[in-house]
Amino acid sequence: MARLSGKTALVTGGTSGIGLATAKRFIEEGALVFITGRSPDSLAKALSGLGERAIGIRADITRQEELLSMVQTIEDRAGQLDILVMSAGISEHSLLVETTAEHFDKTFDTNAKAPMFVMKEALPLMPSGASVVLIGSIAGFIGTAGYGVYGASKAALRAYARTWTSELAERGIRVNVVSPGPIDTPMFDGASDAVKKALTNLIPLRRLGKPEEVAAAALFLASDESSFIAGSELCIDGGMAQV
Ligand code: NDP
Repeated sequence: MARLSGKTALVTGGTSGIGLATAKRFIEEGALVFITGRSPDSLAKALSGLGERAIGIRADITRQEELLSMVQTIEDRAGQLDILVMSAGISEHSLLVETTAEHFDKTFDTNAKAPMFVMKEALPLMPSGASVVLIGSIAGFIGTAGYGVYGASKAALRAYARTWTSELAERGIRVNVVSPGPIDTPMFDGASDAVKKALTNLIPLRRLGKPEEVAAAALFLASDESSFIAGSELCIDGGMAQV
């Protein structure tokens, strides 16, 4: 029996990488899945591979009016939202000494502020039994040089999962974080083989992760199989931040 049959999900950043793999997996498990991203081309390409239970909404979630319209579309087309996966995110290298206010604002607007307001606006659509999965990062608690702002933006998600669990548990809504280590997605397109090799050497399992491996964790936390898990963090990192 499909694990998400009859459920409606929104996957932000569902046009690429981890979000796209998650949307695919949720559809295989019977869900109706809304995906979002800013680029119309990426959206069209993603939809072409997802089939008829996928609905695309072009939205930049850092823009309040687009965020509100995205939530309105879900209300109009589905009436409720059982699963919310927030995968949209950006990661840019910046050492402390070179960090600008622009870098800070762009990173926090996308990775920390947008999830807060997607959650706030989508909340009225969530019934008891809904599950929220925030895609964090092990960068939120390890100190990788050059990723201070990114790491802080991901640590914010960990804090949201805790506080939203306290605030929403009585409504039957669970919130958890999936924190990946290095995963081979388009986010890594600019990385050289040398950088990938150096990263691989830091991972006990000696390889980068696959987006499908993160999607499997998101599926577990989105489904009723994780019914007694709330406010937690599940790391999908080949052991990188665990040993
Ligand atoms: P990708 O770059 O492959 O995908 C990012 C997605 O986010 C795209 O769909 C992109 O669409 C969307 N997105 C970015 N900004 C916005 C925005 N303002 N509004 C709407 N959508 C937006 O990245 P990954 O799949 O690798 O990453 C997914 C998540 O996982 C991110 O939050 C990332 O921080 C996290 N993560 C990734 C790791 C990795 O190694 N890959 C490791 C740890 C965490 P578009 O560009 O069209 O807007």
